Amino acid sequence: MTNIKDNLDTIELQILHTCQQTNRSADEVKLLAVSKTKPVEDLLAAYHAGQRLFGENYVQEGVEKVQQMSDLPDIEWHFIGPIQSNKTKAIAEHFHWVHSVDREKIITRLNEHRATQDTPLNVCLQVNISDEESKSGVTAEQVFDLLPLIENSPNLTFRGLMAIPAKTDVEQSFKKMKQLFEQVKVLSPTADTLSMGMSGDMSVAIANGSTMVRVGTAIFGARNK
Ligand SMILES: *Cc1c(COP(=O)(O)O)cnc(C)c1O
Repeated sequence: MTNIKDNLDTIELQILHTCQQTNRSADEVKLLAVSKTKPVEDLLAAYHAGQRLFGENYVQEGVEKVQQMSDLPDIEWHFIGPIQSNKTKAIAEHFHWVHSVDREKIITRLNEHRATQDTPLNVCLQVNISDEESKSGVTAEQVFDLLPLIENSPNLTFRGLMAIPAKTDVEQSFKKMKQLFEQVKVLSPTADTLSMGMSGDMSVAIANGSTMVRVGTAIFGARNK
């Protein structure tokens, strides 16, 4: 049986260790627990072990969990999956963050659907850094076109960039992302997040500047297909 608390402890130690080795401060790197396909009981186990940031990939599944856990204080819900435009309302209403923004229409709709009385929705642009045809995400050039649109959306706050590199090109992609992030930070005062690194490449991502690792399998075990 998967012991979620033990796994979280192990990962936190690994983050700490990598930060020490690479001269980074451990509070620069946040851990997002990616809980897609996992039952609420597993998320509760993580919550009671102290985990507060949760990432979901599927809108309906994510919204159900948000609602089922709405009594628990301090949870931050992150949407990290591909976005269909007809799902932007549900995302804007239920999540605090979106990592996978990749086109103008999605920016416009998220801004429209986020209630003005709420705190702005935190958004990252997803970059297709390995230029894979199968992956969603924008090119490095498109980042600079979309950034002003987000900055001019009153109900959104631009927080940074997200990437899922190709398996064959991991370290090089992380390095490219770090460079791009440095350029973006010059243009945006609110950009503070470089979302990269998963169970298999978390340490490489941290060594290359990640500020948020998105970890699923190493916390919750293999996903139920
Ligand atoms: C599923 C997923 C993760 C977590 O992957 P693991 O390999 O299970 O850690 C991270 N990011 C995104 C965008 C995902 O879809």
